[in-house]
Amino acid sequence: MTYQSINPYDGAVLASYPELPSAGLDAALDTAEACYQTWSALPFANRSAIGIRAAALMRERLDELAKPVTLEMGKLYAQAKGEVTLSADIVEYYARNAERFLAPQKLEQATGEAHVESSPIGVLFGVEPWNFPYYQLARFAAPNLMAGNVVMVKHAGCVPQCALAFEKIWRDAGAPAGAYTNLFISYEQVDRVIDDPRIKGVALTGSTEAGKVVAARAGRNLKKSTMELGGSDAFIVLDDADLEKTVEWAVWAKMNNTGQCCVAGKRFIVLESIADRFLEKFRAALSALKPGDPMDPATTIGPLSTEGALVKVLDQVKRAVEHGATVVLGGKRGEHPGAFMQPTILTNIAPTNPAFREEFFGPVALFFRVKNEEEAISLANDSEFGLGGSVFTRDVARGKRVASQVDTGMVFINHPTWTTPDLPFGGIKNSGYGRELSGAGIQEFVNKKLVRVRSISAPA
Ligand code: NAP
Repeated sequence: MTYQSINPYDGAVLASYPELPSAGLDAALDTAEACYQTWSALPFANRSAIGIRAAALMRERLDELAKPVTLEMGKLYAQAKGEVTLSADIVEYYARNAERFLAPQKLEQATGEAHVESSPIGVLFGVEPWNFPYYQLARFAAPNLMAGNVVMVKHAGCVPQCALAFEKIWRDAGAPAGAYTNLFISYEQVDRVIDDPRIKGVALTGSTEAGKVVAARAGRNLKKSTMELGGSDAFIVLDDADLEKTVEWAVWAKMNNTGQCCVAGKRFIVLESIADRFLEKFRAALSALKPGDPMDPATTIGPLSTEGALVKVLDQVKRAVEHGATVVLGGKRGEHPGAFMQPTILTNIAPTNPAFREEFFGPVALFFRVKNEEEAISLANDSEFGLGGSVFTRDVARGKRVASQVDTGMVFINHPTWTTPDLPFGGIKNSGYGRELSGAGIQEFVNKKLVRVRSISAPA
């Protein structure tokens, strides 16, 4: 069963949902297409009013929405509530700003009178991951709906209750049937949807492997796509960093969502003059985390999202050690029943070790000592990924100099990779292409149409 809620804390099966039959999928595509015709013709203000209501409903239903996040994928309850609030902020941000972002732009340098209009393109299809079950949906749905597109979404199989709850928000806010459609569909049906001529654009957030499959399918159909994929963010600590603050951020960067963030700190690259002190404090802080029920406010480390996710990370650690890595902390399944993993630090990871190039999607920190700033930059860039990264230093000018040389879509100085509705989010290399959020996110699936006026005669 693909769409099944299983509590990773105790293994309880909470709910199961059948896949959509073919006829149901066709009907959903018809409804979305018909909805697009009316939705796209509405003035911005009408769509904005629905977006503002959707955001308000999310805030009203904070607990009701946060609970299935914790129960389906094990996120600490306080973090689940934070995610609902952030998602509401994203929805409201686009409801209030879409018209401004998409206003016609006069071309000042043009010969004659010319402007570029931004118009919606149709029904869009999103494939989304479980790690932030509402935030990922909000990032895709809110800008596109407010631009006048309509969206259909295949969410991850392990978070079906969140998938349904988010769809319901839009209907309850007054969006017409077909504006936001959740699809419980198989991979084969994903291909069918991408091939369908009613679909005009495709967005995926997930692993690089899934991105390659879905991007190829979209490309074969000449459909625009955006890909928000995996990462192995460098967390660079320069020798003049404020050590106390930096270690606090290191713990957050690694352990937020139990390390299951595309932009978690994954490679901790520390200048050798402070490496021992950093490692000692980091190890002590991670050792002090308290596993338990993610609904309990006293718990500071919850289970991973599924038993399968845990087995995958344990296997990666085992292989890393077989190839010469040293376990400084943890490395094993947690003692608590459920999908728990001990907070883990690995060192001595040679470039020939598979761990050097892999993404660890869990509470595993890879620790590297480097001689100087140049070596830190070079190691940070020695990766097939290029999503985010961070630099810690008391000297902001130095931080900016390093940031400019790090080869990723985002770099943050004195805090880890971060997200707010107004900051563009996305990567390069195997971390994908395109951007979500900010003014950039809403431009991905609109037609930038040139309109020119000039009364001239045809060349003889
Ligand atoms: P995943 O296995 O790639 O799944 C993501 C979504 O793609 C799910 O809905 C999944 O469906 C679907 N999917 C996977 N393979 C597919 C295929 N061959 N055809 C059609 N659909 C397919 O990734 P995940 O384990 O859920 O999420 C973790 C990954 O996402 C990490 O690599 C993380 O870094 C990345 N991520 C990136 C960002 C970003 O913004 N760059 C944000 C969050 C996460 P099922 O669930 O049914 O398998």
